Amino acid sequence: MEIIKTLIIGSGPAGYTAAIYAARADLKPIIYTGMEPGGQLTTTTEVDNFPGYPNGVDGPAMMVDLQKQAERFGTDVRNGHISKVEFSSQNGGIHKAWVDDKTELRAETVIISTGASAKYLGIESEQRLRGGGVSACAVCDGFFYKDQNVAIVGGGDTAAEEATYLANICKKVTMLVRKGEMRASKAMQHRVTKTKNIDLRYFSEIEEVIGDQVVEGLRIVNNKTGKKEEIKITGLFIAIGHKPNTEIFLNQLEMDEGGYIITDGKTTKTNKPGVFASGDVQDKEYRQAVTAAGTGCMAALDAERYINSLR
Ligand code: NDP
Repeated sequence: MEIIKTLIIGSGPAGYTAAIYAARADLKPIIYTGMEPGGQLTTTTEVDNFPGYPNGVDGPAMMVDLQKQAERFGTDVRNGHISKVEFSSQNGGIHKAWVDDKTELRAETVIISTGASAKYLGIESEQRLRGGGVSACAVCDGFFYKDQNVAIVGGGDTAAEEATYLANICKKVTMLVRKGEMRASKAMQHRVTKTKNIDLRYFSEIEEVIGDQVVEGLRIVNNKTGKKEEIKITGLFIAIGHKPNTEIFLNQLEMDEGGYIITDGKTTKTNKPGVFASGDVQDKEYRQAVTAAGTGCMAALDAERYINSLR
């Protein structure tokens, strides 16, 4: 069986940047794109804070450019989901991975850049109506609710950004924040409060999403007064943060209590020699495209140094 020099799992800014560096270092990287090729940026419209784009850049277009750049240096980009791994604990040991529970791969080094996914509230009615009006991506699905009444849950920058995005499309946006304050930056809070068709409700939680096949409304409760209320909406957007995509690495790699992979100091080294982690899968602090790309670069350099140390 062929032994891959550098296997990259996940195709967001971290994965593709790792691929660009690894390919240029002649590590002949193979990247598996995973469930969401291109990663979270494919669910965004405009990216205004990635350096080098004075006029902003379309998120999906940026990911296509990153893929092309990685391919230009010979990266082998493959569709498929890595469903299982078995990492060696030996220095110089060979790591195993399986594609879609079938094809076995062997690699000298592995760069994990599987990112993070949206969190849900976890209530039964919300889960049942996912795809029937419950969404975790306003930018992807907001268009379907043009001129309708919608609600969004969360008080962070994502919720604030998505609420203002939805307010441009929808008739009214009810924003439900569980505390008496928002976690979002002051600038984002200001954008929310000055948008006329956002109805901001503090101390508000969802008890039930009303609807059989599709969302028809919400039963919300004020957690301070206990007062319950029903509101009519057709779309519910969940924006309460993300969780790292690390399930397949459980019992293989050291993780923190949130499931983020722990890396060694300022490096991308995990506790298994030859296995590196980059991007949101190891970063709960910064979570930006540019920081993910930066750690992708670091992971490729760490992989190159590791391989050289074995020769
Ligand atoms: P955050 O973790 O910052 O915020 C999550 C929000 O969801 C909080 O208001 C939290 O409430 C709320 N929440 C969590 N769980 C529940 C629940 N079960 N029910 C109701 N509400 C809940 O996540 P974000 O995705 O907003 O942001 C992640 C990171 O990305 C942040 O660092 C943010 O600054 C950054 N970001 C930056 C942007 C920009 O600069 N343009 C845009 C988007 C994100 P509570 O406060 O009560 O815990």
